[in-house]
Amino acid sequence: MYFAAIEAGGTKFVCSIGDDEFNIIERISIPTEGSEETMSQVVSFLKKYPIISLGIGCFGPIELDENAEKYGYILNTPKVKWRNFNFMGYLKKHFDIPMRWTTDVNASAKGEKLFGAGKEHKNIVYYTFGTGVGGGAVYGNEFIQGFTHPEMGHMYVKKHTEDSFEGICASHKDCLEGLASGPSIEARKNIKAADIPFEDKVWEFEAYYIAQCAINTMQILAPDCIVLGGGVMKKPGLIEKVKEQFLRLTNGYMEIPDVENYLKLPKLNDNSAVMGCFAMAKEVAKN
Ligand code: ADP
Ligand code: ZN
Repeated sequence: MYFAAIEAGGTKFVCSIGDDEFNIIERISIPTEGSEETMSQVVSFLKKYPIISLGIGCFGPIELDENAEKYGYILNTPKVKWRNFNFMGYLKKHFDIPMRWTTDVNASAKGEKLFGAGKEHKNIVYYTFGTGVGGGAVYGNEFIQGFTHPEMGHMYVKKHTEDSFEGICASHKDCLEGLASGPSIEARKNIKAADIPFEDKVWEFEAYYIAQCAINTMQILAPDCIVLGGGVMKKPGLIEKVKEQFLRLTNGYMEIPDVENYLKLPKLNDNSAVMGCFAMAKEVAKN
């Protein structure tokens, strides 16, 4: 019995096949090009296996309301080649199997909650600090959403007094994504984030913004744990700096859980979303 996972990201698509114990049987990465070029490769790969269901985690904004006319579509994305693309419709033409989709960060949140850093918790929020910033919340077995999925990466944060960078979010300039995404770090320094020494002030700013994000999240949703993922969190020492700032900024206001067990790095390496997608695939297969 095979399940399929598609993690559809802005730079790459990761497609995986899992067995009924969620072991990864085969995993490929395809660069994100135009919808037809990329999706035809996705379909050819998935056709190699007799898959019984499919879970998808996709970059947003996407339509998640099953009653909406555009259910299964990518909506008004800045990636013009994917704007208004009927993602689920395309796949349904090729596979007559149950499918479920959600945002890429929701899929990662689900994977980490079920199998990774959030395993002992009921309610978790997952953030990625990568090319963009995004967050997803899983409470019990449900994703938190309202008229649409959350866009946690675009929350506003207080600017560090010494940070003169104006921010790079196309819509808001200095929202969290505008100030703390990988490209925003790199725009300040003109070198790769991984190569910027940890003594550089930019990491102080980064930790300050991520800590504010974690505090806002704790105060609004009071999750049991917050998982901080994405390429930027691979910077050695950053998580410790975030924890320091988090403790300083909470300033004793709330009775908070032990920070070591509250702010965590992901445990599934680059497979958080893949594992979440397998879990969604298994859920729909049963129905
Ligand atoms: P994506 O968001 O496209 O899925 P990633 O989560 O890998 O991809 O994030 C990419 C960003 O993370 C880039 O801006 C890159 O500079 C940054 N990054 C990757 N590795 C590191 C590292 N070791 N230290 C700091 N930043 C890193
Ligand atoms: Zn923004």
